[in-house]
Amino acid sequence: MTSPDALRRPLERLYREFDYDSRVDLDALRFPVRYADPRDREVVALLTACLAYGRVDLFGRSLEGALAAMGPSPAAFVGAFDPHRDGARFRDFRYRFNRPRDLVAFCVAAREVLARHGSLEKCFVAGDADASGPLRPALDRFARAFLEADLREVFPRGRPSRGYRHLFPRPSAGGPCKRLLLFLRWMVRREPPDFGLWTCVSPARLVIPVDTHVENMSRAIGLTRRRSRTWRMAEDITRRLAAIDPADPVKYDFALCHKRMSGDCRDRRDRVVCAPCGLRSVCRHWRGRG
Ligand code: SF4
Repeated sequence: MTSPDALRRPLERLYREFDYDSRVDLDALRFPVRYADPRDREVVALLTACLAYGRVDLFGRSLEGALAAMGPSPAAFVGAFDPHRDGARFRDFRYRFNRPRDLVAFCVAAREVLARHGSLEKCFVAGDADASGPLRPALDRFARAFLEADLREVFPRGRPSRGYRHLFPRPSAGGPCKRLLLFLRWMVRREPPDFGLWTCVSPARLVIPVDTHVENMSRAIGLTRRRSRTWRMAEDITRRLAAIDPADPVKYDFALCHKRMSGDCRDRRDRVVCAPCGLRSVCRHWRGRG
């Protein structure tokens, strides 16, 4: 594993010098960023993150249709949502495991959560028994608020569809929960490209959302030795990043992810691609080669 002292300078440089503007339009962030009102941005960010499995251009096409159906204020749409009146607006929605009724259920559950708590942040905080402790129990309760909402209007037999359950993974099941952690990063981190809308949660508590790109980069630069992408891997990587910046450990996530996604890293030694890379000194593909 690479020491925090060795990682600090290359990672700080990557974070500082990364061209965020050129990548935001290629990131799932591009959907919530369109909405100026924080209430709309919060709802759109959650829906976007829930659907953010697979490539952005693939789920993005389906999400565009869903957002168009929700009109100019998705928060107002959800707040007044009537599945019998409004559900048909999603009739053309299809994305891998998800079907129109999953979006109808999302709107019913979000309506219930917003009616009870007033905002998604307040819902999260209501389940956050220890505001200085680990994030995992609070995130689990947040997912449960959606999974255990009264969805009989959508699922009369009382059992939500597999597609709906897939939208809200629970950390207690051990998976990496990349999509919900991505949503939290957007809401909580105060620095761009994130939104910093949730002032009640400290960025120091965030856990990194690990997808295949972050997993590859983390192994390459010695942030983890774990082989399977799990919640424990996410904690492992976060713990090492916190040794560099305890106040904001997941600030490196966007740049690490996009460096690999953009092809600026091929996860192998490549004289041309690796030449300008500031991570070479800590990269296992260059160990012993200077
Ligand atoms: S040195 Fe090459 S393989 Fe290693 S992180 Fe940089 S671009 Fe990727």
